[in-house]
Amino acid sequence: MKVYKFGGASVRSAEGVRNIVSIVSEVEDELFIVISAMGKTTNAMEEVLAHFMKGDDDAALGKLREVEEYHAGIVGELFDNADNGRKAIGSDLEELKQVIIDNVGDDYDRWYDRLVSYGEILSTRIVSAYFTERGIDHAWLDMRKLLVTDSNFRAANVRMDDSQKRIGAAVAGSGKRICIGQGFIGTNPHGNPTTLGREGSDYTAAVVGNLLNAGSVTIWKDVPGILNADPRVFSNTVHIPELTYLDAVDMALSGAQVIHPKTIKPLENKNIPLYVRPFGSPNEAGSVIRGSISKAIDVPVYIQRKNQALLLLSPLDFSFVIKENLSVAFTVMNKHRLMVSMIQTSATTLSVCVGNDRYLPQAIDELSNYFRVEATEQLEILTIRGPGAATDTVHLQGREVLIAQHSPGLSQYLMRE
Ligand code: ASP
Ligand code: MG
Repeated sequence: MKVYKFGGASVRSAEGVRNIVSIVSEVEDELFIVISAMGKTTNAMEEVLAHFMKGDDDAALGKLREVEEYHAGIVGELFDNADNGRKAIGSDLEELKQVIIDNVGDDYDRWYDRLVSYGEILSTRIVSAYFTERGIDHAWLDMRKLLVTDSNFRAANVRMDDSQKRIGAAVAGSGKRICIGQGFIGTNPHGNPTTLGREGSDYTAAVVGNLLNAGSVTIWKDVPGILNADPRVFSNTVHIPELTYLDAVDMALSGAQVIHPKTIKPLENKNIPLYVRPFGSPNEAGSVIRGSISKAIDVPVYIQRKNQALLLLSPLDFSFVIKENLSVAFTVMNKHRLMVSMIQTSATTLSVCVGNDRYLPQAIDELSNYFRVEATEQLEILTIRGPGAATDTVHLQGREVLIAQHSPGLSQYLMRE
């Protein structure tokens, strides 16, 4: 059994979907295919949701029409008989419109998952119908019924045991060599749709790989593999052919966009290799992440993480930053789901850098009950990994550094964007 994951960029056009067919045609093993929403559909669905939450159904349906037209465009180009494609998404679109009309948005996170999850439903319906047109026997699976998660809407965690039973049964019961399922989406135990966090389809692929004891998981991407830096930002990037699970976790947690941070654990736990391969050149090897590698990474790695906010917290009563204060601060931040990316303490100030999520204002409000809070937004962290990290300052480009931290082989700089 292999798991292949195709991201939004791979399915953003008819040409991409055709390329999936040509890649899949080379596989003789059992195959589970995980697919994201097409192109920028998730962003568009977030706009549909925003209108819906404001109670503006007309605007929500208007935006949804754009989503529909985009998919219809791909269908028109892809199918010999475009009716097959239109039929494939027709009833989901009607269902979604009805959901918007019949309901009033209250709990943002819950409605996010209910509405935004349709992006993946539409993409997999289209790919599935196209497989059928091309005579590729397969089963379409609904991960809103099979991938069981907790109820942490918008960032749900998979419940492995429950999911194992359902996915195992669905794959075996399908009797097909090839199954197609959605990335990013699942269900809580009460049957409410959940999502795993933006870019979460990688995580889905890893979980499915673990649950089905796959021989490997492959993420097909629009990059040549894993590079030592983002080529859109840095010049002279170098391809890294092999990484350990630990290398990959470090990179992902520092903000490298190439794989979702939660992807590694399910694979490491079963020692399943993860291949990152170029969708546009399927004959190239790309990169592999696994337990042991033949050659350690010998180039510096640069990772940029944007959209950060720095919170300076000083106890209101001028007490020192000690364990009670630390515990209160982190409890509040955790409650508001802030992702902590950097920490520094002094006698009277706790400096915490967090991802600038929509719950930041609420978190600051609550933190203000205990601390004087000073917040600075629009920051980014540059992480440099490698032997010469501490002296490698070229990429700071003379910019003001708010916090610098160094440990052996690792430097991190918090700067303005
Ligand atoms: N479609 C989702 C997103 O855009 C999940 C994914 O692509 O991995 O974030
Ligand atoms: Mg409504």
